[in-house]
Amino acid sequence: MAKASIASPSQQHLGSPVFDELGMERDPDNLYLQTIDAVLHAADVISLPHHVQLILAQPKNEIMVHFPVKMDSGHYQLFKGYRVQHNNALGPYKGGLRYHPHVSLDDVKSLAVLMTMKCSLVRIPFGGGKGGIKCDSKALSSDELCRVTRRFVSAIAPQIGPDYDIPAPDVGTDAQVMAWFADTYANIATGLDRGQAMAVVTGKPVEMGGSVGREKATGQGVIDVLAELLPEVGLSMKGSRLSLLGYGNVGSWTGKLWAERGGLVTAAMDHSGAVYNPKGLDAAALADHVREHRGVAGFEKSRSGAERITVDQFYSTEVDVFVPAALEQMITPERARQLKCKIVAEAANAPTTPAGERVLLERGIEILPAILCSAGGVTVSYFEWVQNKTQTSWDLEKVDDELNRHMVMAAQRVQKARSKYGVNMRTAAYIAALERIAQVYALRGIFP
Ligand code: NAD
Repeated sequence: MAKASIASPSQQHLGSPVFDELGMERDPDNLYLQTIDAVLHAADVISLPHHVQLILAQPKNEIMVHFPVKMDSGHYQLFKGYRVQHNNALGPYKGGLRYHPHVSLDDVKSLAVLMTMKCSLVRIPFGGGKGGIKCDSKALSSDELCRVTRRFVSAIAPQIGPDYDIPAPDVGTDAQVMAWFADTYANIATGLDRGQAMAVVTGKPVEMGGSVGREKATGQGVIDVLAELLPEVGLSMKGSRLSLLGYGNVGSWTGKLWAERGGLVTAAMDHSGAVYNPKGLDAAALADHVREHRGVAGFEKSRSGAERITVDQFYSTEVDVFVPAALEQMITPERARQLKCKIVAEAANAPTTPAGERVLLERGIEILPAILCSAGGVTVSYFEWVQNKTQTSWDLEKVDDELNRHMVMAAQRVQKARSKYGVNMRTAAYIAALERIAQVYALRGIFP
């Protein structure tokens, strides 16, 4: 990775003409505004036409629903759900569905923007969307989770569809939730046979039309990007040390695949605690432990050679690559100052605050941005959708090969934009994504 300007977009663009023109607030702590700010900075670098900047600065649709669900106790609880459809210039809206107590409209909007950028960067024919339900999925029984999901689907069914908006799993949701989602939609959608209707979501269980390789896809994509870019900073996976913030779907697969390629996962932290082993944690055993005990805490009590460490010790552990794979905004300036790594590979969406980013760049730590590193999941989601549409079934080798091809080409696109414009990797990734969107708007124009 050639050295480039460390100029960070944030703050300076919160007062850009687009913000004024749209009457948008200028709260620098607002994740949506931060995201748009970074995108507009990249747009300025390539002189993206003003009307395209205006279009991208706000989502096309923001859907908010409230729906009652009968809980196991017999009481009724009212839930709030969101679906934000940011942009569909490149194809149907696409993006995950999050069940979490802190889900909010602005966060969902921000994640929807990232999906527009991600799909464009990896050149899959989807736009960007995101959704969620404000709830603690871990506190719900399986029956309650099923009823919440089915009721949410019935509330938003008229506004989604296999050719219009296709959700997928995210934090707090999984293949089982997608199975309930697809079944509910297939039962209520009119004008579609059951097979067609099932393509309304991806990340389904393989037995119900899911793709092999989808569960590990985001982690696999992180590894594919690292394999492509590490040699440029003189690193190889073999023997290199990695720490993981978050050990859920994305974190655990990244850890397991890193270890399979000869790397060492020396530290891991989730909501329950942090563990460390300088010789390398047994990543697969840790994943089993997390599944059984709902967190990494207690792994040190197994005969794993791991020791428990504090949060501060976790962030200060010396590694080659630090992978945030938990939630947004966790790399604050304070945490950025603690990190002792050469590269931050963003497997989570928007894990670094703009102020945290400035600290990392000033310290010479390379950031591989989320729209590149975490694009593996949506890429294999696209493969699942293609398989559903064509009634075919790919084997794992084909999925892995195609995923690798998409990730490597996306990484090369980012590198090219970086060298051409002399910007950091995040701005370069947005530029590579925006170039495709700009071409499409130039070709199709604005109706009428
Ligand atoms: P998950 O629910 O499986 O895992 C989330 C992890 O974050 C868990 O290990 C949890 O303990 C940890 N966590 C939550 N709060 C924490 C805290 N305060 N401190 C430390 N750890 C905490 O979710 P996931 O699917 O692995 O998603 C993780 C991130 O990756 C999210 O940002 C998500 O949007 C993004 N992402 C996921 C996919 C996918 O395919 N699942 C695709 C692209 C991006």
